[in-house]
Amino acid sequence: MSIYGPTPDLHDKITGVKGSFNALINAIRFLRSYKIPVILKVTLFKDTFNFYREIQKLAEGLDVTNCFFGHIIIPMRDGSKKNRHMSISGKDFSNYMAFMNKDGAFTKMKNNKFARGKGDMLELSACSAAHNTFGINPYGELMPCILSQVSAGSLLKASFKDLWHNSSVLKQWREIKLKDIYKCNKCKLIAVCSICPAAQLLENRALKPVKAMCESSYFTDKYINENKSDLIFKTRKEAQNDKEDRKTSQEALCEANC
Ligand code: SF4
Repeated sequence: MSIYGPTPDLHDKITGVKGSFNALINAIRFLRSYKIPVILKVTLFKDTFNFYREIQKLAEGLDVTNCFFGHIIIPMRDGSKKNRHMSISGKDFSNYMAFMNKDGAFTKMKNNKFARGKGDMLELSACSAAHNTFGINPYGELMPCILSQVSAGSLLKASFKDLWHNSSVLKQWREIKLKDIYKCNKCKLIAVCSICPAAQLLENRALKPVKAMCESSYFTDKYINENKSDLIFKTRKEAQNDKEDRKTSQEALCEANC
């Protein structure tokens, strides 16, 4: 779930919808009351950048599994780039990595990124969309992810199971591998990069690098190399606890629905 600020004023200013902060917090509390894991994603903007500590604190109070921070602003769904003026640079973002790491935020982010660094990476799927994630837009259309602009079909007309197993759109999306992405398939920063095919298509109308992502990966890699000894990664025990938490939540969800 996306959160843009620690208060209604800051969050609602970004979303442009009054009351969206309170609706978000209520939704998070509802999900956590059934022990359903919640991950918060925070894009930091010029207006909200100095509030990352407060956002992290709020996330901890809401008992969410993780709170990931980023700064990349991709084009709007209609392709417009007029939102770019709110963006901070990768270099600015990197200046705050050390502070974020002290609070645990950066460490959590890195645990996720390093998961990619195993095996023959180029053979891996480019992202988890249509594998273990999906999006549903306000009109009930199923999509590979909330950023993608292709629809697998309407959930008002077909079942989720039917679309999930038979949609050619989803099948095609699942076939995108890292080796298929122009330039990324030869990039030495690929292990730390949050490559996003949907963002690439929005930005370039083709599967090729997003400049802001390259900049961010460069500074992330630099930060990791300079601070390896300070970065703490999850132990097997912590990973196991996460797994147990997910299992409990699935059981709770099943009980609630049966
Ligand atoms: S840093 Fe740029 S070129 Fe390299 S993998 Fe990421 S998006 Fe692709």
